[in-house]
Amino acid sequence: METTLIILKPDAVQRGLCGDILHRFERKGLTIVAMNMMLISKEQAEKHYEEHKGKPFFDGLIRFVTSSPVIVLAVRGQNAIMVCRKLIGATNSQMAEPGTIRGDLGMSGSNNLVHGSDSPESAERELNLWFPDGNFDTTDRTKDEWVYGL
Ligand code: UDP
Repeated sequence: METTLIILKPDAVQRGLCGDILHRFERKGLTIVAMNMMLISKEQAEKHYEEHKGKPFFDGLIRFVTSSPVIVLAVRGQNAIMVCRKLIGATNSQMAEPGTIRGDLGMSGSNNLVHGSDSPESAERELNLWFPDGNFDTTDRTKDEWVYGL
């Protein structure tokens, strides 16, 4: 089992799409193990996106992700990092495949609804940043026997 960090960005919150997006992760068979709605600070946003510092879109990205509350989630499942990235779709929503979150719900390369960690290293770093106490739900979900055929 792997845990990944997901953020429902300001456009998802403001457009009222959080239920739809959370539903997609849940109905896939993934498990939400932590969730927090919050207005993030400029400092937190810059730390989260530190790999993009200096890129032309960085300042706009920081303005965007701090412009309204977001929902920060930890999501668990087998290969959760890769599975969530596939569910989310390509960065530019206009290029994202239909069936993905961005492909179905978005039209922008910046306001693209959701963030998902892109590697085990980023997931570890981002989970520590957003959930420093690491207090994730560890209850066994009986559904997993059916989801994975365990
Ligand atoms: N972004 C942007 N313009 C770009 C590239 C990225 O505004 O040309 C924003 C967009 O919100 C994206 C985020 O920066 O989701 C992080 O970029 P990354 O390449 O990590 O994309 P992701 O992993 O979110 O698909």
